Amino acid sequence: MAVIGHYIGGKSVTTAGRTAPVFDPATGAQTGEALLASTATVGEAVAAAAAAFPGWADTPTLTRARVMFKFKALLERDIDALAEAITREHGKTFEDAKGEVTRGIEVVEFACGIPHLLRGDFTEQVARGVDVFSARHPLGVVAGITPFNFPVMVPMWMFPVAIACGNSFVLKPSEKDPTPSLMLAELLAEAGLPAGVFNVVQGDKEAVDALLTHPDVAAVSFVGSTAIGEYVYKTAAAHGKRAQALCGAKNHLVVMPDADLDKTVDALMGAGYGSAGERCMAVSVAVAVGGVGDALLDKLVPKVRALKVGPGLDRDSEMGPLVTKEHLAKVSGYVDAGVAEGAKLVVDGRGLKLQGYEDGYFIGGCLFDDVTPDMKIYKDEIFGPVLSVVRVDSFAEALQLVNDHEYGNGAAIFTRDGDSARTFDRDAKAGMIGINVPIPVPVAFHSFGGWKRSVFGDRNVYGMEGVGFYTKMKTTTARWPTGIREGAQFVMPTTGN
Ligand code: NAD
Repeated sequence: MAVIGHYIGGKSVTTAGRTAPVFDPATGAQTGEALLASTATVGEAVAAAAAAFPGWADTPTLTRARVMFKFKALLERDIDALAEAITREHGKTFEDAKGEVTRGIEVVEFACGIPHLLRGDFTEQVARGVDVFSARHPLGVVAGITPFNFPVMVPMWMFPVAIACGNSFVLKPSEKDPTPSLMLAELLAEAGLPAGVFNVVQGDKEAVDALLTHPDVAAVSFVGSTAIGEYVYKTAAAHGKRAQALCGAKNHLVVMPDADLDKTVDALMGAGYGSAGERCMAVSVAVAVGGVGDALLDKLVPKVRALKVGPGLDRDSEMGPLVTKEHLAKVSGYVDAGVAEGAKLVVDGRGLKLQGYEDGYFIGGCLFDDVTPDMKIYKDEIFGPVLSVVRVDSFAEALQLVNDHEYGNGAAIFTRDGDSARTFDRDAKAGMIGINVPIPVPVAFHSFGGWKRSVFGDRNVYGMEGVGFYTKMKTTTARWPTGIREGAQFVMPTTGN
């Protein structure tokens, strides 16, 4: 059985200690054992990162960018292997896993532009003979704590930008699907990243707490559930660290009566059931406005029933299993709760058994109608393939639902009416809005982040927000009594190295 260890100072580390089993969700078989880092092991990783930091921070931005360019090429070379590793531990379909890697590569592409992104500001002659200039400096050792649902993409929302900015990085991935993190570490080393700039510690709460309280960790980026994110944000801040925590969600898709229903139903299928609903930008609530509910259900129900559920490596599967047995029990429990609360279960995916995969963590697509805001299935993030339809009379009521929910990650509207779309865009209390786009995950040169209890902290991830998070500003005011004369230079000036 594979032992999945740490990556510290350019070497794999397999110090014996506590472990957590890793499973193939399609078969239910244990495939590996992840080591769970002790406080001491986390200390070794932070020490390696701290030792590597000064040299890396001094490395010209063009040289850092060139490592990112090579890393991008290596990710493209190994995209299939990475996707397969994701599918084997997470369960999502292979093509979806490839999509995840591609979205991660896009952040690397953004980070390749770091010489331009870190170009400072300069104002000449703010007073007679006085100039002012500002430059962004790296923070030092920064940490990333990431969830199971995107074992490649979410770490890559963080470390390409952090590293390109001149920081060193310690990643603590989810213990449920730890293998891809080590593949990323190997690829960064192959791309020429100096040892110690990128480190991985596998682990659970002990490793997280060690990072949150370590005096040499300057900043913490977290992505995961709201309860843990709030704890991470508060603990990191209490220990003097810069922190950002991107958390849970309950994303609504408002269906207006004038929407193109075929396109809306396709959008709901992909956004509700893609990756078995285990996406923070999954749509879990469809709000049917002004009597469109019956027509919507007529088109939606047969598609949910026809959903092809199967192992992620089977190219015909549209939806794979859930990540763990415990998560399957939790999601099924929510469906039970919805029935008990009086919601109408139109499609029941519970108890699905696939021939040859009887021990896999499968559940079919579930669809509820007549869901009301007081129900647990409406309030909580289920994080499974369970879509709730809420019926309302007006656009105003739909908007109110979005705004009253404790989460505000994404929200979408499907309509042909510009007035409704523009009002929704301006007034919906969510960080990412889709207009006829169901999963509005922004491209790498914008940034990602929610509102309300979907986030703690004031900076989004990636894009210029990421550059801001991983750097601190220095502004210099300079006066020179005389100019410096070095004489003529006849050699063509070069940049980098
Ligand atoms: P999780 O909160 O259980 O775990 C996230 C990380 O925290 C993992 O690395 C885990 O090891 C660690 N952790 C778990 N328990 C801990 C504890 N008690 N103390 C300290 N650390 C702990 O989340 P998950 O189940 O892996 O991921 C699913 C959640 O992530 C969902 O809520 C989803 O919405 C959210 N998510 C949010 C975004 C976003 O950008 N907003 C993106 C992806 C996932």
